[in-house]
Amino acid sequence: MKIAIYPGSFDPVTNGHFDIIKRAAKLFDKLVVVVMVNKSKQASFSIDERVEMLRRVTEGIPKVEVDSYTGLLAEYARERHACTVVKGLRAVSDYEYEFQMALANRRLNPNLETIFLPARGEYQFLSSSAVKEIARYGGEISYMVPKIIEKDIAERLKIK
Ligand code: ADP
Repeated sequence: MKIAIYPGSFDPVTNGHFDIIKRAAKLFDKLVVVVMVNKSKQASFSIDERVEMLRRVTEGIPKVEVDSYTGLLAEYARERHACTVVKGLRAVSDYEYEFQMALANRRLNPNLETIFLPARGEYQFLSSSAVKEIARYGGEISYMVPKIIEKDIAERLKIK
């Protein structure tokens, strides 16, 4: 069984992430979307909120599971018997960091391969940070996040 992991902060999940999830799910027997706890990043949503949003968004997609993890991705992959890490690549600016992470992960777990899926054109400039910035000031985010969680994100982030 080919298991892949799609890690990220997902703070919150965007249409860019969702597109990668749908595309990656078709390539493997199972795709585990994992909210990685990054203590150096100040998050807006709690781990539980992020997991819950991802679960709602991916409910109808077969083969997708949502989880969270504190620790090294290479270690998590070993625990889950995953062979591949999936990453989405937006602009060239993502590339250097992601390439470095891929090399580090392979060193930590030689059986782990990283594959990159290119972001769809319309999501090239979409990030969780942009969603948060716009939502805070009550701007339109409907084209940025899955419909099912749009209202919750808007209400949760809007400065009152
Ligand atoms: P962000 O950079 O938005 O905070 P994450 O850390 O949650 O995102 O990203 C998790 C993964 O999703 C990374 O591989 C990242 O490159 C990818 N990703 C983020 N936004 C997009 C997008 N708009 N299109 C495709 N992939 C994306």
